Parts: sequence; structure tokens; C-alpha cells
Amino acid sequence: MSSHDILVVGGGAAGLSAALVLSRARRDVVVVDAGNPRNAPAAHMHGFLSRDGMPPAELLATGRTEVTEYGGTIIGGAVHELVATDRPGFHALLDDGQQLAARRVLITTGLRDDLPAISGLTDRWAKDVLHCPYCHGWEVRDQPLGVLWNGPDTVRYAHIVRQWTDDLVLFAPAGALGSQDRSQLTARSIDIVEGDVDHLVIEDDALHAVALSDGRSMARHAVFVPPHLTPHSELLAGLGCEIDDQGWVITGPHGATSVPGVWVAGNVANPKAQVITAAGEGSAAAIAINTDLVEADIGAAPDEIKDSLTP
Ligand SMILES: Cc1cc2nc3c(=O)[nH]c(=O)nc-3n(C[C@H](O)[C@H](O)[C@H](O)COP(=O)(O)OP(=O)(O)OC[C@H]3O[C@@H](n4cnc5c(N)ncnc54)[C@H](O)[C@@H]3O)c2cc1C
Repeated sequence: MSSHDILVVGGGAAGLSAALVLSRARRDVVVVDAGNPRNAPAAHMHGFLSRDGMPPAELLATGRTEVTEYGGTIIGGAVHELVATDRPGFHALLDDGQQLAARRVLITTGLRDDLPAISGLTDRWAKDVLHCPYCHGWEVRDQPLGVLWNGPDTVRYAHIVRQWTDDLVLFAPAGALGSQDRSQLTARSIDIVEGDVDHLVIEDDALHAVALSDGRSMARHAVFVPPHLTPHSELLAGLGCEIDDQGWVITGPHGATSVPGVWVAGNVANPKAQVITAAGEGSAAAIAINTDLVEADIGAAPDEIKDSLTP
């Protein structure tokens, strides 16, 4: 079993940013990454200062090169199980049977986007089915856009998408909207179409229209939908980290969890984190982890000196 100062689980923006800071701090850091970042289906990444428009894979490839150039190790694969030992430290079991030991752990495993069950939605994800107007709204600005219902929060979400176009339709199931919702949507020139969306009409590899189950169809160039977000927090739960009743890990400063030695960064703990936010949280967690290790070394030093003086 190889031993390291820090194990980073997940090599997206959060994990690689942390690994860069830690390897530059001369820590022995290993990143284990399953290679499935959340924004992988998107052709371009937006809103990252100085990297706007870069393909997501390019950012991560650059990050991996930077980490390894400073001595960090990156392993492709998934951490299957993490257990706390009493040093304190952690043992990790990878899906290929490999085992690792580390003094501290940073979990940056991201989250899962769950879309409503509408035919064709998943196939068009990150093409013309979008979720984040800050990421992709500019690219479809001023076009005929739709918002697909995915629970009551969709109303507020439609008001936000309105920022990018004057031609916006909210598709909502009959009876879902209250009278105040209706008047506020109408006041902001957001059209309401009530009924069940059946499927997306795709022509020439592009969204053409949204089709309802009653036979109506509305021409739209792109639709936004707010996914339900589920954190990849199985490892955190397995370690005994405190989790709230929505399934999100409870964090202290810089991503510290309730279990000493375990930190988190990025979408696994913060559903609102954009790429630049996830990278920033990874960096902040890395500095906190290094400080914690320095504190542990200070605490251990007198005993080591005492031991070395004992005949
Ligand atoms: C379609 C789409 C487009 C987007 N576009 C933008 C955009 O333009 N701009 C922007 O700022 N944000 C965008 N986002 C949001 C962006 O994806 C997130 O902000 C970002 O990915 C969060 O980074 P992260 O490191 O927390 O998680 P991720 O990037 O999801 O990385 C998590 C990594 O952990 C790995 N992992 C999971 N479990 C394990 C395990 N057990 N063992 C090992 N590895 C594991 C995963 O495979 C993955 O590689 C977009 C999101 C989506 C869905």
C-alpha cells in the first residue's frame, strides 16, 4: 500500500486546484479520479476569467499537467471505500483493488444532475437543453427560449432566464402555477404554456420545437431546465460525516467536515459552485489541510525529539 500526505478523491476543477496548491506546498499528494466531470458534455466552458470558451477537457488536461509537474500523482479510477484509521489517517480501496493510505482526505466528487423524464431531453443535454444561464445563456441570447418545469422552484428560475431573452415560454403542468406566479410572470412578459411536455422535436441535429401531449407544439431554439441535484456523497456518509436532511454534507470553514481530517470542495458540497468557484474552494481547502498537517507536525515534534534522546 502506498502512503501519502493527502488523498484527493475526484480530479475535476476542485480536486486538481487543491492538488496543485498542495504539491506546490511540497506535500505528497495523490489524486484518484474517475474521469467523469459534470460539465463533460459541454463543448465550451464559460465564465472562468481568462479561460472563457475553453473546452472543459482542456482545462482539466492543463491542470493535470501542472499537478504532475510539481510532483503530484494522478491515478485514473474510482475510490470505492474510505475508512478512518487511528493514526489519524485513512485507507482507501480503489475499484481495481489498489489500496492507498493518506494522513488527510479531500473529497471533490461532484454531483449528479437529474432531469425530468421527457423524451429526448438527455440526448440534447448541454447542446440545446441547458441548465445554467450564466454558463450558456449568452450563446442563446435573444432567441426563442423555453423553460421546462421541474418543481415549484422553476418559477423563480424562469424569471432568471428571462434576463437573456424577451421571447421566453414557461412550460408548466396544468394547475402548477398560483395566481401570484401568473401575474408576476405575465408582468415580466414570460409566456405561460400549460400542459404536459411530451417530447422535443429535433431537426438537423438542433432543437426545433417543444411538443405537448395534447398535440400542440411551440417552436423554441433552446430550453432551460433546472435539474435536481444529488451530491456524490457516499464516501462522506461512509466516513460518518454529518449530512443534512437533503443529503448535503455539513461544512465548517474552508470545507472542513465534522470528521477530523476530511475536507470537501466543489459541487459535492456546494451545488451552486461554478468551475471557478470549485477551483477556488479546492485551493482554500488545500491551504487549510496543509495548515492542519503543520499543526499536527508541531504537536508530534516534542515526542519525536524525546524518543530520539532515549538511550
Ligand atoms: C452541462 C453543464 C455545463 C456546464 N457549464 C459550465 C460553464 O460553462 N461554466 C461553469 O463555470 N460551470 C459550468 N458547469 C458547472 C461545472 O460543471 C461545475 O461547476 C464543476 O464541474 C464543479 O467541479 P467539481 O470539481 O466540484 O466537480 P466535477 O467537475 O464534477 O468533478 C468531480 C470528479 O470526481 C470524480 N469522481 C466522482 N466520484 C469519484 C470516486 N468515488 N472516486 C474517484 N473519482 C470520483 C468524477 O468522475 C469527476 O471527474 C456546467 C455544468 C453542466 C452540467
